[in-house]
Amino acid sequence: MKILVINAGSSSLKYQLIDMDTETVLCKGLCERIGIAGSVLTHKGPKQAVVQQDMKDHNDAIALVIAALTDADHGVVKSMDEINAVGHRVLHGGSQFFQSSLINDEVIKAIEDNCDLGPLHNPANLMGIRACMNAMPGVPQVAVFDTAFHQTMPPKAYLYGLPYEAYEQFKVRRYGFHGTSHRYVSQRASEIMGYEEGLKLITCHLGNGSSIAAIKDGKCVDTSMGLTPLEGLVMGTRCGDMDPAAIKFLMDKTGMTIEEMDTYINKKSGVLSISGVSSDFRDLAAAAEEGNERAELALEVFAYRIQKYIGSYAAAMGGVDCIVFTAGIGENDSATRARILKGMEWIGIDFDEEANKGRGEIEISRPGSKVRVLVIPTDEEMTIARDTKALC
Ligand code: AMP
Repeated sequence: MKILVINAGSSSLKYQLIDMDTETVLCKGLCERIGIAGSVLTHKGPKQAVVQQDMKDHNDAIALVIAALTDADHGVVKSMDEINAVGHRVLHGGSQFFQSSLINDEVIKAIEDNCDLGPLHNPANLMGIRACMNAMPGVPQVAVFDTAFHQTMPPKAYLYGLPYEAYEQFKVRRYGFHGTSHRYVSQRASEIMGYEEGLKLITCHLGNGSSIAAIKDGKCVDTSMGLTPLEGLVMGTRCGDMDPAAIKFLMDKTGMTIEEMDTYINKKSGVLSISGVSSDFRDLAAAAEEGNERAELALEVFAYRIQKYIGSYAAAMGGVDCIVFTAGIGENDSATRARILKGMEWIGIDFDEEANKGRGEIEISRPGSKVRVLVIPTDEEMTIARDTKALC
């Protein structure tokens, strides 16, 4: 069984073709600058290809993806008939979706209804879905929601201290994101730990966007992102938690409009603006190494916020058995992991500095550590493909 995984953004579209009999990735690629001059498709498989061709919309992008998949030179299938199903990453499933769903008219309507909750992503996800339905009529399509895994949170974790009407009328509550990643690494951690029932996990997805989840008995009980992916940790360019009153205060002081403020907190904040250097942790580490104090400060703020979340989620679950690091920073940045874990011995972590230098799936706590710490590379595409296979 071959499954195509699609992750459509507003001007980009990522794809992977996975052979589910062996769970191997046959090829992957990226369409960039959809609807913008200079669109390009980059295809990576047994053979690589770069296709520079106009893509005025997602239909054009899907047509180019199909051409790349079936190309006589760099393609990996003879015809699209070999592709049995398509799995789509969808950002916001609101309160309707606890799990992945086969796409039908009702599911499309629900994704549309959630566009106001995910205004940047849901419309793009829908464009990807519709383009695939047009290009591959009759092939089952599955939606895998970033929010679904977090739907097991109890009301005490997802309600804000706003008037209850904000929740009832406008669905303002914590939803959480990166659910597919938190689910993948938590399931893998359960396998490594050897049990799920009674297991208290804290999963740290640390990438350009970052979030933490508290997972008890395999179910999410709390997570740091909220109504939108802005809340929680300090991220590459997003501010994370702060006093909401700072928004009016800063607008009064600077004359910023609400749209400008939205950009300010989503794209011009985080470690990028604390450091004044970069949102990329490799640049921050290099600058801090050279003595740049604000780069050092940004790294400290980032780690401190994570320490606080780990502490509060241990309190929420009545303890923690295992902490997992994943995503770009979590998987690759051993110095940031060390910065977070040093000073957390009190929680029961016996940190292994040597093991922390390793790569791939590793354990970075010493044998016998009360709280085990794992690094588990995430694989959202494989999770999407597995869900798609299961539903088909
Ligand atoms: P992601 O959003 O999961 O793709 O993560 C992207 C981020 O991971 C980048 O912006 C970097 O900050 C970080 N990153 C990736 N590789 C490394 C590395 N080798 N060392 C430190 N940070 C890294």
